[in-house]
Amino acid sequence: MKLFGTSGVRGVWNQFIGPQLFMKLGLCVATYLGNEGEIVVGRDCRTTGEVLESAFISGLLEGGCTPVKVGIAPTPVVAFSVRLLDAKAGGIITASHNPPEYNGLKLWSQEGTALLPEEEEKIEEIFKKEIYQQKVSWKEIRRCLEIDTIPLYTRQIKRKMKLESGFKVVVDCGNGAASLISPQLLRDLGCKVITVNSDPSSFPGRELEPTPSSLDQLRSLVISSHADLGIAHDGDADRMVAVDDQGRVARPDDLLALFVQFLAKSGDKVVTTVDASSVIDAKAGEKKVQVVRTKVGDVHVARACKRENAILGGEPCGTLIYPPIHLAPDGIIAAILLLKMLEDARKPLSALIDNLPKFFISRDKVPCPQGRKERVMSRFLQEAQKLGGISTVDGVRIEFEEGWALVRPSGTEPFIRVTVEGRSEDWVNRTVKLVKSKIENIR
Ligand code: MG
Repeated sequence: MKLFGTSGVRGVWNQFIGPQLFMKLGLCVATYLGNEGEIVVGRDCRTTGEVLESAFISGLLEGGCTPVKVGIAPTPVVAFSVRLLDAKAGGIITASHNPPEYNGLKLWSQEGTALLPEEEEKIEEIFKKEIYQQKVSWKEIRRCLEIDTIPLYTRQIKRKMKLESGFKVVVDCGNGAASLISPQLLRDLGCKVITVNSDPSSFPGRELEPTPSSLDQLRSLVISSHADLGIAHDGDADRMVAVDDQGRVARPDDLLALFVQFLAKSGDKVVTTVDASSVIDAKAGEKKVQVVRTKVGDVHVARACKRENAILGGEPCGTLIYPPIHLAPDGIIAAILLLKMLEDARKPLSALIDNLPKFFISRDKVPCPQGRKERVMSRFLQEAQKLGGISTVDGVRIEFEEGWALVRPSGTEPFIRVTVEGRSEDWVNRTVKLVKSKIENIR
């Protein structure tokens, strides 16, 4: 069984996740870091957070590291705290948007970005081969420190991001970790804030994944209160989902395109993943902004933001990275940036979205067992070369005259994902059918 999935270690309490595992993880992380240094440790609002935090901290201490507890905090605050405190790494105990019986661990590098798969692989090897036997002596056991970094995080944001328009905003934190920050911070920035599901002590309130159906209450509140915007976070607030003034959930790709239109200047660079919509390129083209495309995953976006000196990065799943403050996906900063954009645009969000060029996108999948994925992908690559221009940044992306198709194996599930986008719905449907049949016909 693999320890690290697409977003750190994740699983169900009492099945895969428990204190024994987390103590061992603490010891493995300490070994990976050379048995010394400060590690920031935070958790989201889950009932299993405290026991897993204690276990993880015990492992870190046993391995000679100095844990720095920041308590209940959003994932972006933990990542931010690593750089703020000049720590060696960070770990947040969270299962993001998964149901409440889940929990997990996501690790952060010294630079405040997620770990690359090859870095996680090294920790996995320490775990599997049990290369953590060299525990430190009684004289070398450190003390656990405790710091509340939330005020330091909000102070930094207020210093670098200002709002003037006094927007009316409805905020839905899903009773998650953002409850401690988003509503008050937006008030401090001059907004009139109405909250829903924003009491962390009643976790879990709504379903933690922000979807059109789980955001029913938020959507109707935006309409009934005539708000300018609705903001929803997932359980650990690394994501932000926006609801426009007409109660519609906005596509993250459209928001990225609007950020490019209103916040970027000619010559700027923005980073997104290979599966994001061409609406971003359309707006970037008008403004002479360069779009850098990476593999799917926030760590790849973050590292490209740094390498390319980009002004922002984002993924179609709703993460946004704003390098002037830090390199972690941050749903709280994304909300403020969206309000800043509305301020500059001087139009309601619904009108801005309706004015964007229309693209049709289809996200589909073909069943494929784990063991066949490599063969299917290499055979598909040969087929794809006959269809159009190819990019292999992540999976196989084919550029057609009328649009593009992306075929990539799922990291965790027995599927090959097929994404197709184009200007005509008919072309998209035909291309999905064509690409799926090419995959299904591979023996
Ligand atoms: Mg999350």
